[in-house]
Amino acid sequence: MALKIWLGDGLVDEHEAKISVFDHSLLYGDGVFEGIRVYSGKVFELKAHLERLFESAHVIRLTIPMSIEQMTQAVLATTEANSVRDGYIRLIVTRGIGDLGLNPFLCKDGKVIIISDNVKLYPEEFYEKGLKVISAATIRNHPMALPPQIKSLNYLNNILAKIESIDAGAGEAIMYNHLGFVAEASGDNVFLVKGGVVYTPPVQAGSLDGITRRVVIRLAKQEGIGVVEKDLTRFDLYSADELFLTGTAAEVIGVIEMDGRVIGTGKPGEMTKRLRTLFFKAAHS
Ligand code: PMP
Repeated sequence: MALKIWLGDGLVDEHEAKISVFDHSLLYGDGVFEGIRVYSGKVFELKAHLERLFESAHVIRLTIPMSIEQMTQAVLATTEANSVRDGYIRLIVTRGIGDLGLNPFLCKDGKVIIISDNVKLYPEEFYEKGLKVISAATIRNHPMALPPQIKSLNYLNNILAKIESIDAGAGEAIMYNHLGFVAEASGDNVFLVKGGVVYTPPVQAGSLDGITRRVVIRLAKQEGIGVVEKDLTRFDLYSADELFLTGTAAEVIGVIEMDGRVIGTGKPGEMTKRLRTLFFKAAHS
């Protein structure tokens, strides 16, 4: 069945969901987006995602042509129209149609696009076995260039790292910042476990302020598990008891090998599994 897509101010059929070749989102990657999950018919952490979207838009001087409340209703309407119970939502705001120059303020008719579908993103085996990762040679964007906290439509920095991981036959690439500290993976946040304590780099080390990251930190603290946000090095990752990644698509996934080094026991660790279980309980509650 064809999907109903939110485009502009209402729902259209999938084959009618088209935007102009002069939209600066295509010409320059100028726009913002969110990836959101639906669990048991409920949109997960919608408020947090929309706040992040509006914050990203504010920083790139993009005016979203609807309020957070209207956007909430649009997301719910799209999810309902496609009967999505367990799936994924892609929410995009484009800069709109401009000329062939860079000036974003000449752009008109920026579009809100919402795609909501019942999709299974990764096979279960992916989680049971855990991931191999590599260190990317490509560093994360310098915060004084394109701040990694902006979830913009310009993902080339991460795509270059992703290419490195594919070339190496690995599932993800760990990206470092300009100082050599761990920033994040190409599409996920990074955590390690050492001596029963959970560590993750601060967002200021150069990562997206991941919603899954926030939820995992909150759940761990509620359970009395120590969580420390501090700068981490490649050595810290190699010598961790456990490594795991978090993200809307990946959820909570164990890492079992990095740059040819076995991590911990070589299987997803106990803390990783515990936090993954807690995450699922929270998501489906
Ligand atoms: N970092 C990057 C670069 C990402 O693209 C994502 C997810 N899309 C994340 C981290 C994880 O963020 P979230 O948990 O909000 O999906």
